[in-house]
Amino acid sequence: MSEISENTASVLARVTAAALAAGRDPAGITVVAASKMNDAGRVREAFASGIGVFGENRVQEMLEKNRLGAYDGARLHFIGRLQRNKVRQVVGTAELIHSAESLPLIAEIDRCAGKASLIQDILLEVNIAGEESKGGFDPGDVSSVLDAVSAFGNVRVRGLMAIPPICSDPLDNVPFFESMTKLFVDNSIKKYDNVSMDFLSMGMSGDFEAAIACGANMVRIGSAIFGPRNYN
Ligand SMILES: *Cc1c(COP(=O)(O)O)cnc(C)c1O
Repeated sequence: MSEISENTASVLARVTAAALAAGRDPAGITVVAASKMNDAGRVREAFASGIGVFGENRVQEMLEKNRLGAYDGARLHFIGRLQRNKVRQVVGTAELIHSAESLPLIAEIDRCAGKASLIQDILLEVNIAGEESKGGFDPGDVSSVLDAVSAFGNVRVRGLMAIPPICSDPLDNVPFFESMTKLFVDNSIKKYDNVSMDFLSMGMSGDFEAAIACGANMVRIGSAIFGPRNYN
């Protein structure tokens, strides 16, 4: 077996175990392979070993790999920081945009989706640890953002996403995961137009089991599947 298929088997087994330990159905957890900096061939390898959803961070890289057929037969999500001038290239290509981090960005997604005559699914990114360096809505603003998004005709909010701080101990982020789950549940109770709170996207290679234990149903896993990224 290749490294990627061994890693994939181990990640999927760990996701299943974490779901069962939390008393949840493993089928209800979506594994998004964060495939940035891994070329089309490596994405195909991951697909062949059982990954069905890929998440990309960079628009050009995603479009190039898409042209090469990297995601054929799979689903494609956009998980990286999205500039407004690149929205047009992502809308309709990525089935779900995890990183809807501001109202102006959502307005642009809505505008581009309208032009393309489609409805774009998005997650609201929440800056759960209040980090200066990260985008995302303040937790306290989420319900008013959902209200505002109800007025848009071409976006649909499918849930929430968070990127808590990088940590050395997988349990360090548990308080943030718990706050996200509470926010997700609280905002699922009130019904808004164009909103269905289906997905809670949190947990990465270092802490996805903790995230699942706290209530994540979508995890974004990169290096545990593809190995360490080479940033040179
Ligand atoms: C790269 C990335 C991940 C995955 O990170 P790993 O630690 O390699 O699992 C998850 N989410 C986002 C937004 C990313 O950019």
